[in-house]
Amino acid sequence: MGNSLNLFQGMRRKKKNKVKKGHDEVKSYDTESKKRQKTTCRFEESLIQPEEDHLGSGTRDRDITPPSADHIEEVQQVEPSPYLSEDGLNESSVEVQPRNKSLEDFEFLKVLGRGSYGKVVLAELRGTDKVFAVKMLKKESIQNYREVLQTLMERRALVLAAEHPFLTQVCCCFQTKDRLYFAMEYMNGGDLQYHLSRSFRFTKSRSRFYAAEIVSALIFLHRNGIIHRDLKPSNILLDADGHCKLADFGVCKGGILDGNTTNTLCGTPLYVAPEILLECKYGASVDWWSLGVIMYEMMVGYPPFVARNKSRLYKSILQDTPLYPFWLSRESKRILRAFLVKRPKNRLGCVVSLGQEEAIKMHPFFKKIDWQLLEQRKITPPFKPKITAKKNTNYFKARFIRQKLKLTPTDDSKFLSCYQSLFDDFYYCNPNVDC
Ligand code: ADP
Ligand code: MG
Repeated sequence: MGNSLNLFQGMRRKKKNKVKKGHDEVKSYDTESKKRQKTTCRFEESLIQPEEDHLGSGTRDRDITPPSADHIEEVQQVEPSPYLSEDGLNESSVEVQPRNKSLEDFEFLKVLGRGSYGKVVLAELRGTDKVFAVKMLKKESIQNYREVLQTLMERRALVLAAEHPFLTQVCCCFQTKDRLYFAMEYMNGGDLQYHLSRSFRFTKSRSRFYAAEIVSALIFLHRNGIIHRDLKPSNILLDADGHCKLADFGVCKGGILDGNTTNTLCGTPLYVAPEILLECKYGASVDWWSLGVIMYEMMVGYPPFVARNKSRLYKSILQDTPLYPFWLSRESKRILRAFLVKRPKNRLGCVVSLGQEEAIKMHPFFKKIDWQLLEQRKITPPFKPKITAKKNTNYFKARFIRQKLKLTPTDDSKFLSCYQSLFDDFYYCNPNVDC
């Protein structure tokens, strides 16, 4: 599947090189990209579109042409369907495989959040008192082959998440004719964006605790060849005890192991790494940059790079050195500077001679963290959400909670039927989650 994705990236790059006049030009910052400087590095603004929260929401790429039938076959060969019997008949059509949960099993209660591609809704499993956060994606919004693969990648990452304490667990995945659903554990502590908007900034120890749990989650993902690419406070959730869980694998990328890289332009403007803006090949370094931005925001109260519009923001990310308030401790400044190094090779977590990601754990900023205890969830969180009932939504924005919940049928004719077969194996039931 990874190969095909790269193939499409190749196609996309060709398209993207034809940048029209009027797009921003940004000079690159390092010698590695000197050649690029001559031609100037451009990026299509439309590819990074902030939605409702100005510069803070992410996007997936959209400008990929649909695949030919050959490409689809290629994918099926790479990863044969477990539902296919020896004679090639799809057994799922004769109901040999047990199906897991379906839409009828859930009663939808309230909207918890909305992102670029769908919404997340609090839902109760009928006949029980169990609640889940169900993420819904309209199939009509999956407009090209690349987005099909991206959605399957999100599912893959959620399945893998079951193996780590600081990644959001999925209970089951299912689909209807017009939508895809991920029923996830409900993180009733809300997301860090909500908490930051209430507290302005966090203390050093609270910031360190959240940062450490995210470091652990990222290292796990990276070891499994997955880069997140959309790390930001709204994608970091708190559970009822106050532990972090990284969520939203909507733009993550797999197969980034042993020096493999990618070059897709995606992410969220405030948190996007310079190498993405410069269209350089990149790997896990982009997540460490974003973590640096988040840590700055948690400790200082606002992001390190701010500007009136996107093009100025991108310029600032590429060229400016952030200001570090005098009251920040020495180790705090040191770690922020180390993550916000523009050249990825020299960024904390990426320096080979310092042990790459291990260097993060050894950094003086994390001196007080016992990583073993942390990963066993034995460190008491600095903030415990006040949750009186499982269904509490007091840590979610009222503007979402107030929204009327309507599951209107969508125009599934826009969803190419040739993609549907790629979702045959979408169903999943997590054996470790009681649902
Ligand atoms: P998108 O890809 O559209 O950004 P996300 O997966 O990030 O979607 O979800 C959007 C918002 O929904 C999050 O910022 C968070 O507030 C809420 N949310 C997502 N997953 C959960 C969950 N498992 N529990 C509680 N809230 C969630
Ligand atoms: Mg999100």
